[in-house]
Amino acid sequence: MKPKVAFFDFTSCEGCQLDVLNLTGEELLDLLAGVEIVSFREAISRNDEDYDIAFIEGSISRDSEIPRLQKIRKQAKILVAMGACACIGGVNCLKNHLTMNEALTMVYGADAKQFDTIPARPINAVVPVDAYIRGCPAQTGEFAKLVKALLIGKKPETPSYPVCTECKMAGNICVYELGKTCIGPVTRAGCGAICVTGGRQCWGCRGLVDEPNINSQEEILKKYGLTPAQVVEKFKIYNTYSEVKK
Ligand code: SF4
Ligand code: SF4
Ligand code: SF4
Repeated sequence: MKPKVAFFDFTSCEGCQLDVLNLTGEELLDLLAGVEIVSFREAISRNDEDYDIAFIEGSISRDSEIPRLQKIRKQAKILVAMGACACIGGVNCLKNHLTMNEALTMVYGADAKQFDTIPARPINAVVPVDAYIRGCPAQTGEFAKLVKALLIGKKPETPSYPVCTECKMAGNICVYELGKTCIGPVTRAGCGAICVTGGRQCWGCRGLVDEPNINSQEEILKKYGLTPAQVVEKFKIYNTYSEVKK
């Protein structure tokens, strides 16, 4: 019997689920041959409550989301965090720099009292997580690879080295040489340094490496006459949760 798979969204833009829908050709056929999708609001009307693997998109930012996530955890044999919001809190955690009243008023103005909100957090702050697909959005290729690994009972591999390693392998000129900043030295690799290769910088969407070498980031800043304050805004975009917990 094929394992039953369900997708769930919490506080998110739903871009990670959309990326799964970009699966085509062989990858899509492999997925459909290996699993039975029993709940996926963006793609099918079926909505079964009996599933083995749950993919969770989004962070937790309302009280009502906590029991919903706990219920999913209870049902699922394997629970996977999909995308930066679910894995590390992501952009939703930017509001954690404000009081919740300030955040509500900023968004809803005079209607703020009608809504509830709590400081945003990744899903592993609420329930145990078995596997992670990182990035904003989570990449289709990594999703397909993870499903394959789960089907053969293998633990999915996660790089423990920083984006700089992949960036150098891609032959990029370091953006610090071009007068820009980047947080690749402390960010977990796995994306192939796609943003730098595409002419931008790393914003840390895959979260921090397990033991971030802060010294290496500081040395780079020093070399280019910069201060930590000049990269901290970049760091906050995705990684506020690892810095601010209210
Ligand atoms: S990780 Fe990015 S693409 Fe995915 S839900 Fe969050 S904001 Fe959207
Ligand atoms: S700091 Fe950024 S641009 Fe420089 S090598 Fe590292 S990832 Fe590449
Ligand atoms: S380069 Fe940085 S921001 Fe871009 S996908 Fe990789 S980890 Fe995310």
